[in-house]
Amino acid sequence: MRRIYLDHAATSPTRPEVVEAMLPYFIDAFGNPSSIYSYGQEARAAVEEARTKVAKLIGARSEEIVFTSGGTEADNYALKGVAYANECKGNHIITTTIEHRAVLEVCNFLESRGFKITYLPVDEYGLVAPDDVKRAITDKTILISVMHANNEVGTIEPVEEIGKIAREAEVYFHTDAVQTVGHIPVNVDELKVDLLAISGHKLYGPKGVGALYVRKGTKLVSFMHGGGQERKFRAGTENVPAIVGLGKAVELAGQKMDKEAEELVNLRDKLIKGLVERIDHTHLNGHPTRRLPNNVNVIVDFVEGESLLLSLDSEGICASTGSACGMASPEPSHVLLALGVPPDQARGSLRFTLGQENTEADVEWVLEVLPGIVARLRTMSPLSESQK
Ligand code: PLP
Repeated sequence: MRRIYLDHAATSPTRPEVVEAMLPYFIDAFGNPSSIYSYGQEARAAVEEARTKVAKLIGARSEEIVFTSGGTEADNYALKGVAYANECKGNHIITTTIEHRAVLEVCNFLESRGFKITYLPVDEYGLVAPDDVKRAITDKTILISVMHANNEVGTIEPVEEIGKIAREAEVYFHTDAVQTVGHIPVNVDELKVDLLAISGHKLYGPKGVGALYVRKGTKLVSFMHGGGQERKFRAGTENVPAIVGLGKAVELAGQKMDKEAEELVNLRDKLIKGLVERIDHTHLNGHPTRRLPNNVNVIVDFVEGESLLLSLDSEGICASTGSACGMASPEPSHVLLALGVPPDQARGSLRFTLGQENTEADVEWVLEVLPGIVARLRTMSPLSESQK
């Protein structure tokens, strides 16, 4: 059966060139980068080359990049690291209601340890108002954390404006850029961020590797103690093959991003238009224009998102109802609820996130198959008769 993968926000296939770049570091160049003999130095050089590549893509300096095990660790590190290093200054953190769990759960944890968290609302498109951020700042605020783009609905936040506000107030600013780095231009100086989280497997790199950008001078405690790796920020022998893979993935992203984004926007808009036109009672979630080039998120009224997913899967189409990390939870998406979508409707959400290997034919196939699936599910749904 033909299989079409449309869940690139959950994870993306590793590019063959990335795998090729990684392979020597398992067998031939397997040294520990902390060893002073040639095997070690070969691995060290590869790690540093990857660091330079990551820094270059986001306009940072190499020494401002700390490799992590992924986006979750980078977010944890940014929030806990700043919170505990700046406790003497204040205990207040500002974030939003639509962050990924990698930020929200850390905020919950910090709240249980005495920190005060302000969760800012968003509008119907998922946008945070910079003025709300400004108003929420107090003399105890030590950190603002607002994601660059939302992983579920694809809305791109006004991070640059928020960065300006944070800088004027002399408050550290973190952004979770897991869904944007490698997909749209990201520059830490333009965004005026002090900390920024990156994940390898969202940009056609390997899983289990990511990076945290830490602006020079940012006060941060380390929460991984041991050897002196990563300038003592993150102890433990470096995952050299994965770091090399991340380096190659960002290098390729830098070369291909603009063209790929243009192609994805075409496919995205074709899919959105087709879904809304061909399936009645279908609404787009997120911002119509300030959205990630690959994100399509719709609500299909009178059907359960999970039933849609299973039926699509039986046709070889992989999509999602929201974030992969939330799949175990029967609750409607916290992001859609924050956008003001009623819980019953939020259960009918469907997310397609396109990738560089998708084609017009893939989009056509979804548009051919889905209306029939929806019609069949609606005839069986008790929701349709009572609410139509
Ligand atoms: N932040 C966002 C916005 C994400 O979409 C994800 C993954 O879905 C993460 C953080 C976590 O990244 P990782 O899977 O690398 O831990």
